[in-house]
Amino acid sequence: VVGGDAAGLSAAAEARRGDESLEIVVLERGPVLSYAACGLPYWLGGEVGALSDLIGFDEETLWRRRRIRARTGTEAVAVDPGEGVVRTAGGERIPYDACVVATGARPRLPAVPGLDTPGVMALRDVPSAERLAARLPSARPARVLLVGSGPIGLEVSEALCRRGVTVDLIESAPRLVPALAPDVAAPVAAALAAGCATARCGTTLAGFAPLPGGRVEAVVDGAAAGYDAVLLGTGVEPNAEIAADAGCLLGAGGAVAADRHGRTSVEGVWAAGDCATAWHRVTGRDVWIPLATTANRQGRVAGRDITGRAALFPGVLGSWVSETFGLGFGATGLDVDAAADAGFAPTSITRTGRDRSGYMPDAREVVVRLVWDAPTGRLLGGQTAGGQTVAGRLHALSVAVAAGLTVEDLAGVDLGYVPPLSALRDPLQLAAAAAVGDAA
Ligand SMILES: Cc1cc2nc3c(=O)[nH]c(=O)nc-3n(C[C@H](O)[C@H](O)[C@H](O)COP(=O)(O)OP(=O)(O)OC[C@H]3O[C@@H](n4cnc5c(N)ncnc54)[C@H](O)[C@@H]3O)c2cc1C
Repeated sequence: VVGGDAAGLSAAAEARRGDESLEIVVLERGPVLSYAACGLPYWLGGEVGALSDLIGFDEETLWRRRRIRARTGTEAVAVDPGEGVVRTAGGERIPYDACVVATGARPRLPAVPGLDTPGVMALRDVPSAERLAARLPSARPARVLLVGSGPIGLEVSEALCRRGVTVDLIESAPRLVPALAPDVAAPVAAALAAGCATARCGTTLAGFAPLPGGRVEAVVDGAAAGYDAVLLGTGVEPNAEIAADAGCLLGAGGAVAADRHGRTSVEGVWAAGDCATAWHRVTGRDVWIPLATTANRQGRVAGRDITGRAALFPGVLGSWVSETFGLGFGATGLDVDAAADAGFAPTSITRTGRDRSGYMPDAREVVVRLVWDAPTGRLLGGQTAGGQTVAGRLHALSVAVAAGLTVEDLAGVDLGYVPPLSALRDPLQLAAAAAVGDAA
């Protein structure tokens, strides 16, 4: 297994469950295995006490509990399917019968000069989180530039603000959170504005240069400013080279094309996680949507398939959820453009409701957007923002989309109600009812 995090270790653990006799070796080029990258913003913000809390297994525990031999600090430089060996940077040749490429993704960097300036970084793993934390001085208020208003950038904004850091967030798109439709993104932008971060849209980043004292100069919209660190949240791209060099075909997003068993186009080589494509449950097409949930599920499928057990990846909807300054937001399935591109005749509706009875002191406004196929009524996706109950609402919507329900079905589902926890008609149901002309 090449890559010792979510996808790689899920594949290794599932293969072990399927065959006690296998010899399983995991190569990880970084210093740490099995880390929860998703938890890094919460360590930075002080909610998670120790980085070690984010680490599932070290090499010794993995061996003791699962009989999986993991080797950190070991980079695979080539997979040679002809000889059935993986070559390492140290010159070793490790023979395999089955090889899982689970090499993840790396930050996609903006095309500006000065990216190698010390202090310009992306948050991806444990060492990068430590490097960022080390750049935040305790003697004076630190100042950080965050580039990009994706979910991770917004999570980190809040985390740094919790530490008393001054955060400047810039977004090259004309509005914040471009991953969401404008009416769903609006409350997220408002939450950010009410938090400590200053945010600007439509900005042009010219580049970075070192300043005395180890600080970084960033030039944005023609004006230079000094920062203790610059964090690039400009997306990721798949680490697909090692598989491509082995002859594996690439697919959506330049990721390794993997079928629903996790198999690549090369016999004996599987791929899973952020480096691989995934089958989209609504469109039936291969997509590249790197997420921890997908990495875990795809890894398990590959591990089952390797050990000869029936395994068919059930597919993705690209469901994600995030939170910043107390406001949850997220999406599942297709938005209008993607739905039209997939051959549907989509239409959408956005409605606002309360997450619990309006007379309860903690009631919060929630925005729900639904997208469905106009001729059939089939739900294709949706987005929501507001309060802290969005995960449950998105889960329900994901299940509805996966099950092929129509907006009418959703309008009629039987949900539970108690004033402090839910509304008599959930905003999800209000939106669905409005979609079928039953807005009362
Ligand atoms: C800050 C942050 C927050 C996130 N929050 C969320 C979230 O809330 N929800 C969500 O769903 N997703 C989230 N994600 C995304 C999620 O972390 C990834 O989708 C997930 O980690 C992918 O797992 P993976 O195993 O495919 O890849 P990775 O976790 O990237 O692991 C791949 C591993 O392979 C190793 N490797 C690469 N090449 C080689 C080589 N040649 N030889 C040996 N080792 C190699 C790398 O060092 C790495 O450890 C977040 C990511 C970050 C960075």
